[in-house]
Amino acid sequence: MRVDVVTIFPEYLAPLDLSLIGKAREDGLLDVRVHDLRDFTHDRHRTVDDTPYGGGAGMVMKPQPWAEALDHVLAQDNPSGAKPRLIVPGPGGQPFTQALARELAQEPWLAFACGRYEGIDERVYDHAREDLGLEVSVVSLGDYVLNGGEVAVLAMVEAVGRLVPGVIGNAESLVEESHEDGLLEYPIYTKPSSWNGREVPPVLLSGNHGAIADWRHAQRLARTAARRPDLLHASHGTDGSD
Ligand code: SAM
Repeated sequence: MRVDVVTIFPEYLAPLDLSLIGKAREDGLLDVRVHDLRDFTHDRHRTVDDTPYGGGAGMVMKPQPWAEALDHVLAQDNPSGAKPRLIVPGPGGQPFTQALARELAQEPWLAFACGRYEGIDERVYDHAREDLGLEVSVVSLGDYVLNGGEVAVLAMVEAVGRLVPGVIGNAESLVEESHEDGLLEYPIYTKPSSWNGREVPPVLLSGNHGAIADWRHAQRLARTAARRPDLLHASHGTDGSD
């Protein structure tokens, strides 16, 4: 999968060199390219923002550098004229979920546009859709406001990247995780079986795989009911009832 990220803080994306995502890049499973939006400005101060029409606080990202940056991304190593899906992080977007991560993991090419200040001039979205023919999705990390899109991109690239075949060695470990089927994961334990006066639940030491599966399922339901009852309503029927 190819991933392009356009930002005014390329160094913010340095963690994508680390751990499993960094290894996937080394192995050629992920081709991550980070671009500095300021490289597409033409004034001495490399200006990317200006005051908002209609007044109000803050600054707005200018359309021209974004248009040139997108042209550059589309032209780079792309003789067949393929088009990325453009993801613009924003608190006003659709929520980023495991289901969306799975959907995005199917895409051969994702481009991310990191907003700063009050965000990006609305005409950039129209230009990307109507003139460049891109599918554009505004995606929110959650119902809170960050200073910029970079942290959201780190989270999204990690969540999507780990679903790309080959990135996680043991694909089975992906299946049982929280949010894969609407429930949270069961409690997990490792050695020693007795630690600090606390015991691992005996069923996990029983060797009875059926009993372990039943216990884990009951724990998933209880934990989801306690921490995220909204998920139980959304996944009505996950526990075998209808
Ligand atoms: N004025 C915008 C609004 O009220 O919707 C908020 C702008 S925010 C200060 C600056 C940038 O941070 C946004 O353009 C976006 O890229 C990013 N951002 C902030 N909160 C986010 C969130 N919850 N999810 C994804 N990106 C976010």
